[in-house]
Amino acid sequence: RQSSPAQTEFYQAAEEVLECLRPVLENDPRYHDHSIIERIVEPERQIMFRICWTDDAGRVRVNKGYRIQFNSALGPHKGGLRFHPSVNAGIIKFLGFEQIFKNALTGLPIGGGKGGSNFDPKGKSDAEIMRFCQAFMSELYRHIGPTTDVPAGDIGVGAREIGYLYGQYKRLTGRYEGILTGKSLNWGGSLGRKEATGYGAVYFAENMLEARGETLAGKTCLISGAGNVAIYTIEKLYQLGALPVTCSDSRGTVHDPRGIDLETLKRLKEVERAPLRHYVEHHPEAHYIDREEYPSDGHAVWRIAADVAFPCATQNELTEADAEALLGNGVTCISEGANMPSTAAAVDRFLDAKIAYGPGKAANAGGVATSQLEMAQNSSMQQWTLEKVDTKLQAILADIHRSCAETAAEFGAPHNLVLGANIAGFRRVADAMIEQGVV
Ligand code: NDP
Repeated sequence: RQSSPAQTEFYQAAEEVLECLRPVLENDPRYHDHSIIERIVEPERQIMFRICWTDDAGRVRVNKGYRIQFNSALGPHKGGLRFHPSVNAGIIKFLGFEQIFKNALTGLPIGGGKGGSNFDPKGKSDAEIMRFCQAFMSELYRHIGPTTDVPAGDIGVGAREIGYLYGQYKRLTGRYEGILTGKSLNWGGSLGRKEATGYGAVYFAENMLEARGETLAGKTCLISGAGNVAIYTIEKLYQLGALPVTCSDSRGTVHDPRGIDLETLKRLKEVERAPLRHYVEHHPEAHYIDREEYPSDGHAVWRIAADVAFPCATQNELTEADAEALLGNGVTCISEGANMPSTAAAVDRFLDAKIAYGPGKAANAGGVATSQLEMAQNSSMQQWTLEKVDTKLQAILADIHRSCAETAAEFGAPHNLVLGANIAGFRRVADAMIEQGVV
């Protein structure tokens, strides 16, 4: 830790995992004998590169690019690309580390990876986005491949960016192959991939509630974020008879007590790429809370009364004070669509309260799982129906929930899905590493 003080989020993620692993390491000496902990916290490879591109005014711009290939014991590296000004080596490392365990939990043959850039897509023209993506891929193409490393989208990287990245890969290599997931349905994408992370987070919540004899039907839900994960969380909640009443972006939060209007949200965010404050122009009965008005110790979205919460924006967006407010308002279920959205202190609150708490690495694994289904379709040159993909997605989320719950029970804490997720994911990766020898 002292040698790399800037990796705050990575240490936060690693500490949580290592704390949970204590009983496994005590019970099974093989992990110690094979130095699995020392090996698993060290990425196989970290690539950092310069990205030069030209803006619309003809000025040369420079950004930093990253790809971390963390662990390939279970399969090709798999994990998204994030374009956001907050991206740095520590953020990519935390995301890559989480991805190892998440991918292991899916039961599918995928290893952990992650990447991105500190490029800020906000306010950029379409042509600038294209030139940036082309410049990014001009380096990344050397490091990826359909059986080695297959990136996908994340914050700031959606269907448009995946298209430009793919086009550049094809131009550079002359190969039409499955090196990215989240592709357009027209040219190699999978039905259901766009919806998978949000739908999966809702399926995971439904599994947690069912285990407690409840369902989502009739429940009021809080959602943060207004991007890919948030939108499809809201869509699935409506399909299951719940009432999603909030969403947020980096500038503010919308509270619409009658239910978020999905059509308006999709138009604003998927078509116009506009700030969320415009929502109230179409729905004057909804409330808009500007970021300036947020409580000093947290986020306005978590102070609204509800039954279930879905953090779907970004890391550490839910503080200890937010957790107290949620519990005080009677929230009984949290399913994390985002990666590590709750601070460590907030997670402790949820676990102490023994509510149904689904950590991101389990609850949002539907996205990467469906990416693997896209890889399977690409390699067999097939396209599956939406029903087939969705049936598999539901089964995978149910399996992840079962495996987390059973592992948690095995270690004497049946309600603790954080413990269950970390141990279940770890054992699969660690056993594969041992079987593959010292590499
Ligand atoms: P998008 O870029 O589509 O949406 C992100 C949303 O979160 C936007 O509304 C954005 O607001 C908001 N946001 C981002 N950063 C911040 C910030 N620092 N403060 C406040 N709001 C912020 O990304 P996704 O929906 O794809 O990703 C959301 C989360 O889900 C991330 O944690 C990601 O890692 C995780 N995830 C995504 C998967 C996927 O398949 N896409 C898979 C698994 C996890 P604004 O537009 O104003 O910036």
